[in-house]
This record gives sequence, structure tokens and C-alpha cells, in this order.
Amino acid sequence: MRYETLAKDVFTWVEQKIKQHGPRLAGEDPSRNAADDIYKDLESFSDSVGKDDFYIHQGAFLGWIRILVLAYLVSVVFLWLKMPLFSIILTISAILILVLQFFLYLPLLDRFYPKKLSRNVYGIIEPKEEVKRQVILSGHHDSAHVFNFFIHQPKLYNLRTTGSIGIVIFLLVLSMIHLIFKDVVILNLIIPIIASLGFLLVGQMWFFSSKQVSPGAGDNLVASGVSLVLGKHYQALKDSDTSLKHTRIIMISFDAEEEGLRGARAFARAHQAMLRKVPTTMINMDCLYDEKELFFLTSDLNNFVKLDHKLAEELYQTGNSLGFKTKTQPLAFLTGGTDAAELAKIGVSATTIIGMPWTNDQRSNVYHTPNDTLDHVNLEVVKQTIEIIDTWIRKTDI
Ligand SMILES: [Zn+2]
Repeated sequence: MRYETLAKDVFTWVEQKIKQHGPRLAGEDPSRNAADDIYKDLESFSDSVGKDDFYIHQGAFLGWIRILVLAYLVSVVFLWLKMPLFSIILTISAILILVLQFFLYLPLLDRFYPKKLSRNVYGIIEPKEEVKRQVILSGHHDSAHVFNFFIHQPKLYNLRTTGSIGIVIFLLVLSMIHLIFKDVVILNLIIPIIASLGFLLVGQMWFFSSKQVSPGAGDNLVASGVSLVLGKHYQALKDSDTSLKHTRIIMISFDAEEEGLRGARAFARAHQAMLRKVPTTMINMDCLYDEKELFFLTSDLNNFVKLDHKLAEELYQTGNSLGFKTKTQPLAFLTGGTDAAELAKIGVSATTIIGMPWTNDQRSNVYHTPNDTLDHVNLEVVKQTIEIIDTWIRKTDI
């Protein structure tokens, strides 16, 4: 019953924030204002608080998409002009940008995009006795651009994205064949025709992301709400026998997750010393929609960053012991990343709790759409998340 009350508190909190700030694109006023607002809430009950400003380059994270489309188009023109070497150079460059900017989340294109101010906020609840470890509970308050492919024929999402990348690689192979066999007259016609047909799919990528911004309830204000509500709960218990003894709680609401985890990256950079001084665990949360899809991540960032297997397993076991159906799961290649990756990179034991299917074939049907509103988030998933986290924290608070 107590957990349900906390879950309801999360809902009330999120509702108020969305009403007040609307969709919150990182780098714009609504996202910074939401940060200030969350900071005020944190200030009202935390032992200490912090606000960190940092710069992002707005739009850079998804910039590779339009570069890929343009590179493809110009490469096809070069094939028609019988200049396959230029097509090869262009396609390799586009693939390289894709790998560095999206597979590895490196800031390759950032300098070409407008510099905008973003804001992380955090609050700390100290334990009753000596601090022996710290647990980060985190979410993000910025919200995503609406992804058109999730609205128009979402079943084609995987074909349109992964398929397009496949076709670009195929174009590279075609261009090489064209270069090697440039004296075979028939190839001079067939190859440009096949490459042009490929543009029917690749060209659609131009419209991947819309200007519109999602309300961002399940992705991801609910997570910030869970971290605040739990922190406030521990603070309220401090004078009782049920107070945490040795666990410091750090509640964080990141900005710019949707810009390629830039908020978590800025936090990890700014607070490395604090994060390394005491054994630190991060329980990040993202996309809590449905308790039937609840799971704990064992890897992140297109499967290139390992998260803490043992932690994910322990949380899974905790959920199991409470009668909840959860699992652990690596993050599949080409499905992006979560803020846990940036802290795992500097050695923090981290995982992310997710409450929706996370593959290119299947996601929640409100994820990154205008329908990401509170009525599409189940109260039960929030309740179970809170219960699992609280049970695990108490079990390990020794
Ligand atoms: Zn998102």
C-alpha cells in the first residue's frame, strides 16, 4: 500500500511538471525551466543540492541521418557520371560519421551545430550514520523530438532504419564493383539503376525526426519523479528506526539525454572525484510504461558499454522475490543508449530499469510520439520499480 502511495506521488509530480513546462527540448527554455523547478523541489527536502550548467550542440546527435541521405544521393549522381571513386569516398565518410556519432556516441559533428545551454540538477540525502556507499537514482527531464517513423507505419521502422543503413553499405559495394569493372558497359547502367532504387528507402530517412517535441511523460519525467519521491521518502524516515544507515542517496535529473546522453556525460565529468571516493551504484530509469515489460540492462550504448551484470541480476532477483515478472537484457546493437552508459564508462556500477520492449522491431507505441502522456504510463510499473529499488537498497544497506 505504501508503495502505491509513493507511485501516486510520482504521478502528481509529473502531471504538474508537464502542465507547467510542456514539451522540453534540451537547450531550450522549457527544459531549463523544468530543471530549475525540479531544483526547487529538491531544495525543499534534500541535505544538499546542486545545479550544473553545460553546453550541448543541438541536433548534432541525429545529424548523421541527413548526412547519410545526402551522401547517398550525391553518390548515386556520381555513379551515373561514371565516377565511382567519389561515391566510394562519400559513402565511406557517411558510414564513418554514423559509426562515430551514433554507434559510439562520440561528439564528431557537435561543433557544426548551435551551442545551447542545458542544465542537470541533483539532490543528496545523507544516511543516519557513516557513509559507506552511495546510490544514484536518476531520470532525465528533457524530452525527445517526435520520431515520424513511430507515427507513420511503425511496423516499417526497422526496415526504414536498419534497412537504410544496409543499403548504404550495399551502395559502397556497388561502387567498388563499378570501379573495378568500369569497362563492362552493362554495369554502367545496371549499377546506377539499382543504386537509384535504393534511394526510395534511404531517402525516407530525411524525415526520421520531426520538429515537434514529445511531452515526455514515460520518457522520462516519470523516472526523475521516482528518484525524487524515493529520496524524499528516505529523508522523511531519517528520524525513525527504518532510516538508511550507510547509504547516501543521490537523486539526479539529467538534461540532454535525447541529445546523445550529454547530460550524464557532463555529470560524470564534473563529479568524477565524488563518484570515485565512495563505492557508487547507479540505478537509472528510462521509459517506464508497462510492468509486463520490466527489465534490467546488462549492457548499453549499442551494446558497446558493459553495465554491471551482478547489479542487474540482484535487482532481477529482488523483483522475482516480490513476485514481479522481470528479466535482465543486453541493449541490442543499433537501439541507442541510456544515461547509465556514461557513468559506467567512468567505473560506476550501473544499470537502467526499463519498462517497455526495447528493440528496433518493437517499442512502446507512444515512445517518442505526441502520445507520450501520463495516461499511457501504468501506475503499476511505477509502483513495482519503487518497490524493487527500495527493497534492494534496504537489503544492501549494511
Ligand atoms: Zn527517449
